[in-house]
Amino acid sequence: MISLHIGIVGNGVTAVTALREILKLDPESKIEVFTSEPYGYYIRPKLIEFLAGRIDEQSIVQFGSDWYSRKNALLHLSTQVVGIDPKEMAIQTQDQIYDGFDRILISTGSRPFVPPIPGTDKIGMFVLRTLNDAKSIKAAISPSKKVFIVGGGILGIEIAAAVASTGGAPTVISNIDRLLPAQLDEIASSLLVDLLQQMGISFEFNYLCAEILGQEEVTGVISTEGKPLDGEIVIAATGVRPNMDVAKSADIACDRGITVDSHMQTSADGIFAAGDCAEWNGICGGIIPRAVETAKVAAHNMIDFGTRVYNGTIPSNILKVAGIDLFSIGEVTPPSKEFDVATRLDADRGRYYKAVLKDNVIVGAIILGDRKMALRIQKLVRSGETVDDQSLFSQ
Ligand SMILES: Cc1cc2nc3c(=O)[nH]c(=O)nc-3n(C[C@H](O)[C@H](O)[C@H](O)COP(=O)(O)OP(=O)(O)OC[C@H]3O[C@@H](n4cnc5c(N)ncnc54)[C@H](O)[C@@H]3O)c2cc1C
Repeated sequence: MISLHIGIVGNGVTAVTALREILKLDPESKIEVFTSEPYGYYIRPKLIEFLAGRIDEQSIVQFGSDWYSRKNALLHLSTQVVGIDPKEMAIQTQDQIYDGFDRILISTGSRPFVPPIPGTDKIGMFVLRTLNDAKSIKAAISPSKKVFIVGGGILGIEIAAAVASTGGAPTVISNIDRLLPAQLDEIASSLLVDLLQQMGISFEFNYLCAEILGQEEVTGVISTEGKPLDGEIVIAATGVRPNMDVAKSADIACDRGITVDSHMQTSADGIFAAGDCAEWNGICGGIIPRAVETAKVAAHNMIDFGTRVYNGTIPSNILKVAGIDLFSIGEVTPPSKEFDVATRLDADRGRYYKAVLKDNVIVGAIILGDRKMALRIQKLVRSGETVDDQSLFSQ
């Protein structure tokens, strides 16, 4: 096996998964990882635990520089990559050019999207993507301050629950009339709202934020209909956008993300992209299972091109709010009459079950309040096994 010199831009779950897979296939590979962050590898969901005060900074970072050294890899911390040269197979940072790579993996992830409304530059306005973001939010919040979380998606809800668990009284602002429309139906959404309200979280539905109010510091928000709300902190959880600058610097094809084929190769030979930044078949990332799967496919093809093909990832989500077990996977609304639906509501125990089936195969599900069933359904969706929809959720 020829030992390859591989450059990885980014140091998230995609980068670390690819690094491990590459070393399994070719233990002699020499890998260099470049990250703009000053920390080693950490898993982003842990930022919620950190915000809630359940873990400290030391327990977030999973792999420091020594972990990379032990793997004969080199981690360049606080190193922003500003360009790639596909001809020279070079990676350019702010102050140096590293050339002679055999393969390059772009795993630059995504960054928070902040709606273009006036006032988002004020003191008291935050996003949550990195450990530094989490540290800034943690330093700013206190039980006496009102916190608005703009966005009723999974991240928004998890941030609100974390703020509530520190004694704060957060309000989730959603521009529609319910939570998680892509993951939940109306019944599950309203059960979830009840549970979250019991934890001290308030909601403003159908509220389209028009402006962040205040001089230099946030003093509140106002809706397009002119409804003002007073508060000191605003956290935008309004989606993400893939980081494509590095690919664009090399004229690599990009659309909504960095365009890749089913080998995770970009339009430039030898340069691959995976994880949140990569767009495959018109779809961009945003979840860890997809980052892991695409990273593995990229790693295989970087070492031995043509040996792995990516066929997509069934989206699944688990809401990580203490005391609430909510799982959703795949299609949760039947797309046509050819699909069947099996449901069971046990409101007394806060349990709700729904599966969408096609020809007795589960293609999507929502499970609230029953972790065991969630695991069972996840396996059934992944295996494509046929099931009896009548007895699926029987007690
Ligand atoms: C708080 C939070 C909780 C989440 N919880 C879940 C969850 O429970 N389940 C789930 O499936 N997903 C969750 N996600 C989403 C998940 O974290 C992402 O899908 C995943 O991190 C994507 O991994 P990635 O490696 O592709 O990108 P990222 O994790 O974004 O890593 C990209 C890295 O590249 C670096 N980088 C970017 N540009 C450059 C450059 N030019 N030069 C050098 N370095 C660069 C960045 O600094 C970053 O370190 C969560 C996200 C957040 C923020």
